[in-house]
Amino acid sequence: MKNVAVYPGSFDPITNGHVDIINRGLRIFEKIIVAVLENPKKKPLFSTKKRVAMINSIYQNEKNVEVKAFEGLLVEFAKKNKAKIVMRGLRAISDFEYEFQMALMNKKLDSKIETFFMVPSLQYSFLSSKLVKEVGMLGGSLSGLIAPQIEKNIMEKFKKNKKIYNMKKG
Ligand code: ADP
Repeated sequence: MKNVAVYPGSFDPITNGHVDIINRGLRIFEKIIVAVLENPKKKPLFSTKKRVAMINSIYQNEKNVEVKAFEGLLVEFAKKNKAKIVMRGLRAISDFEYEFQMALMNKKLDSKIETFFMVPSLQYSFLSSKLVKEVGMLGGSLSGLIAPQIEKNIMEKFKKNKKIYNMKKG
């Protein structure tokens, strides 16, 4: 297959910003492999397995989206999966420097890999997984920002944490 792109990230959890990028990518690439980074150092809220399952819950009927966990070098993962394109999203200003560094490093590691940047719709340009978690923790509505089933997962997670915290407090 010619046109395979890898879309790597933490996806902790997947937001409508990520979904917007994937859906735009599907108009360009034959297949998108969403690569969920297994990086315990980042201390994710959701386990890798759960992050993969949440993305799969959105794309269960989309045969051109595959979701896989990965660790190690992205260029190796791309090679193994016969992908020559790395797809990344660019939000307002903040992403630019880091994304530029990563793209150059990946090109240095494997000159055949191209990084393809996509810009989301304006309404998602300031949306991040981090923000979603912060609002979720404070009990705010995430409607329109993440899929309903994922909002439920976040609420459950924080309810559980609240219980543990209350138990500790006595
Ligand atoms: P990472 O830990 O690699 O930054 P993320 O899950 O936060 O992982 O993001 C994965 C990719 O998706 C990155 O390229 C990031 O810039 C992009 N992205 C995240 N949120 C959005 C959004 N709201 N709109 C567009 N791109 C986004």
